[in-house]
Amino acid sequence: MARMYYDTDADLSLLQSKPITIIGYGSQGHAHALNLRDSGLPVTVGLYPGSKSVAKAEAAGLRVLPVAEAAAQAELIMVLLPDEVQKAVYLQEIQPHLHPGKILAFAHGFNIHFAQVVPPPEVDVVMVAPKGPGHLVRRTYVQGQGVPCLFAVYQNASGQARERAMSYAKGIGGTRAGILETSFREETETDLFGEQAVLCGGLTALIKAGFETLVQAGYQPELAYFECLHEVKLIVDLIVEGGLSRMRDSISNTAEYGDYTRGPRIIDEQVRAEMGKILTEIQTGQFAREFVLENQAGKPGFTAMRRREAAHSIEEVGRDLRAMFSWLKSE
Ligand code: NDP
Ligand code: MG
Ligand code: MG
Repeated sequence: MARMYYDTDADLSLLQSKPITIIGYGSQGHAHALNLRDSGLPVTVGLYPGSKSVAKAEAAGLRVLPVAEAAAQAELIMVLLPDEVQKAVYLQEIQPHLHPGKILAFAHGFNIHFAQVVPPPEVDVVMVAPKGPGHLVRRTYVQGQGVPCLFAVYQNASGQARERAMSYAKGIGGTRAGILETSFREETETDLFGEQAVLCGGLTALIKAGFETLVQAGYQPELAYFECLHEVKLIVDLIVEGGLSRMRDSISNTAEYGDYTRGPRIIDEQVRAEMGKILTEIQTGQFAREFVLENQAGKPGFTAMRRREAAHSIEEVGRDLRAMFSWLKSE
């Protein structure tokens, strides 16, 4: 089994004398900045003038600087901007300040692996990627726990890049939960595949197809919502706690029999073949090229798809139903 590393495997003092800057203060940025600060490491936040997050970061007691100044005074620069803006900000405001000995860090390998960002050889390039959304990275840290992370080294100019990445992972609480070593390539390709085929693309398409099938057959949309969307969380919680078998122990025998006999008819050979194609598009860089070009063109297709999906009837039914769930407090 692959080795997991924990608190005792990582040395926080490696970064104690190295000013760190977190570029961006969104989902991941706020969690990394606050966790590192609370771990006793010297942190600033880099943001563009006028960012709505400046006030938030300052209210949390963090020092906020324009990106270029933040990059100039830091030894470790963690880039937590949306993937599609990293290249432009890197070229204009980060690269000019990458003196030898500095550490450039990412939470996802996209821009390095697909050569959108090409750092000079004299800096360390590492990744620490929490396997969870930022609010969880922060909340678990405050509770004394952490979110598991992947870490990787792309360039080891100092000879200490790996230890420094592990030290960073400890600072954000990752080693409390366990961290796993990978490469930029492996993290990038598996992350994109997971979100496209299973977690985001696959799951939302499955939920919508089930919902539409029931509604088109004349059933009440509210029931279709409960069956095909709401209960997903209850099932997934059981799966995450104890694997597929824990979930199957907990459902009725009727549901379990239906699972074994019908599930493979939904995810059939054709679906598997399509998954293979999606993986190939990721590996060849076809998906990356499409996403980069879409963003360069000003996101016309992306924006249209966002609008269309937000107007789907499952969203309307869901909004009305959730407004009546006093027990469902959104965070
Ligand atoms: P968000 O979109 O949540 O936050 C982005 C931050 O960057 C915001 O603070 C935003 O400012 C700021 N920003 C946007 N444009 C600029 C700019 N031109 N100059 C300076 N700052 C700018 O990003 P995420 O936290 O989701 O993603 C960051 C990285 O983390 C990505 O590489 C992503 O792949 C990775 N990642 C994300 C995970 C997640 O759960 N979200 C999980 C694991 C990795 P403003 O606040 O004003 O909008
Ligand atoms: Mg991702
Ligand atoms: Mg049922």
